[in-house]
Amino acid sequence: MRRRISIFGATGSVGENTVALIEGAGGREMHEVVALTGGRNVARLAEQARALGAQIAVTAHEDALPDLRDALAGSGVEAAAGTAALLEAADRPADWTMSAIVGAAGLAPGYRSLAHGGVLALANKESVVAAGPAVLSEAARRKARIIPVDSEHSAIFQCLAGEPRAAVERIILTASGGPFRTWDAARIARATPAEAAAHPNWEMGQRISVDSASMFNKALEMIEARELFDVSPDQVEVVVHPQSIIHSMVGFADGAVMAHLGPSDMRGAIGYALNWPDRAPLPVERLDLVALARLDFEAPDTHRFPALRLAREALSLGGLAGAALNAAKEVALDHFLARHLPFPAMAAVVEAVLERMNAEDALMTRSPRAAIRLEDALSVDHLARIHAVEAANKLQGTRMNRAENA
Ligand code: NDP
Repeated sequence: MRRRISIFGATGSVGENTVALIEGAGGREMHEVVALTGGRNVARLAEQARALGAQIAVTAHEDALPDLRDALAGSGVEAAAGTAALLEAADRPADWTMSAIVGAAGLAPGYRSLAHGGVLALANKESVVAAGPAVLSEAARRKARIIPVDSEHSAIFQCLAGEPRAAVERIILTASGGPFRTWDAARIARATPAEAAAHPNWEMGQRISVDSASMFNKALEMIEARELFDVSPDQVEVVVHPQSIIHSMVGFADGAVMAHLGPSDMRGAIGYALNWPDRAPLPVERLDLVALARLDFEAPDTHRFPALRLAREALSLGGLAGAALNAAKEVALDHFLARHLPFPAMAAVVEAVLERMNAEDALMTRSPRAAIRLEDALSVDHLARIHAVEAANKLQGTRMNRAENA
């Protein structure tokens, strides 16, 4: 069947893997590529759009439109730019859409594409962290299928296939522990962005790599699991598994635990979503269990990695606390990457925002799940960003005063 496909965030790490898998599966001969979107990398976006014969290529940045137009000259591919153009691209009917923009910017295009009632391959975890109930109810209303692409959630989805949901006792998310797993707190406090982005097992975009080092990635995934699989917060557990071979597990009422194993290669989860409900051969390495010889597990350390504790707090606050946590984390991450704040200050910013919004903002905590709308999530996201900038500036000011007084 010739499917209509769109890829949001095509120039990123997940996007490139998706494009490669589609090219490997017959490319434009086998698929009708509707929209490809990117950000700053317009040269690569144009290359992809030409190779796949896309209808339209969209950059998120309006000032990049002339470059995109130049790069697409004579190709017959339409060029567009900006937030409204991203949404217009999402409105073009597609049977299979990859949501792989990084951050909350991916929320609205992914949400809009649910209207087609096809498959939404969801890499953009921020969508369900910020607005899970709204996204899931829209998917149900439009008869769209969300297939998780985050490797942990793809693993859980696969462990749950054919199993009675009522028998699910717990979800066990595995975490590699990131590059700082064995570092002491003093060393973590001096970590640079380059050190934080050097993930031991996975090759990913810079932002999710740093989130893995802080374990904010796992914090988001705890909330994502609670939303996607409709379990209570206390049914979501995290175990550190440094080899990243078990991608996650599901424990059932009879004590059985189903695990999904595979190499650390996102083409596994992306390919699963692309071929769902079938399975097709994928160009990923096969596991050699004898060569692996052992799999290790450790309890997570919430003192060195407070993100996990903050996720628990957000889960128990409920409502739109996930939207606030994610937005504050995104702002804190910008400050860390710009070297305005040290690594541990990211958690301090998120904590300050959650505390403040819990005290001041009724929308964040008092939204009953069923009543949460996309606009509510976007409002909480917006307010949390303002509070986070304030908290980050305050922390930065305190550091500078300390340095001057030293
Ligand atoms: P990357 O940073 O590699 O790519 C992000 C993509 O989004 C790029 O196409 C980028 O364009 C585009 N983009 C960046 N900012 C904006 C914006 N404001 N508006 C629209 N588009 C934008 O990210 P990843 O591929 O690593 O991650 C994508 C998503 O998938 C994230 O939500 C992440 O958490 C999730 N994920 C990623 C995994 C991985 O292995 N990488 C694993 C599991 C989940 P450009 O590069 O042209 O600027």
